[in-house]
Amino acid sequence: MTYVVTEACIKCKYMDCVEVCPVDCFYEGENMLVINPNECIDCGVCEPECPAEAIFPDTEDGLDQWLELNAKYGETWPNISEKGPAPADADEFKGEEGKFAKYFSDKPGG
Ligand code: SF4
Ligand code: SF4
Repeated sequence: MTYVVTEACIKCKYMDCVEVCPVDCFYEGENMLVINPNECIDCGVCEPECPAEAIFPDTEDGLDQWLELNAKYGETWPNISEKGPAPADADEFKGEEGKFAKYFSDKPGG
């Protein structure tokens, strides 16, 4: 089992999650983060820290697409272990629907 970052993170990227993860298993894309499922120890401390409510345990239904995306980019994007500045316009995208289709970028962050 692992925790999974989902669509709500796109263009929000507040990074409060990164600060609390004991095993530094977050990876950074251009406009969202993912969790490497092979490294996550399932402690759950990141979930309540995320102001965008983007993190869920993979035991919840309907997360297959996101689990796949976290696994894929958790291997290729750069690791992030320190919180950086959130984008200035992050709040404008909080709660917006359909962000994956509109904004997802497969480019690495950093
Ligand atoms: S706190 Fe939530 S929205 Fe922010 S980077 Fe982490 S998962 Fe994404
Ligand atoms: S559940 Fe724990 S180990 Fe997994 S990403 Fe969140 S803080 Fe890190």
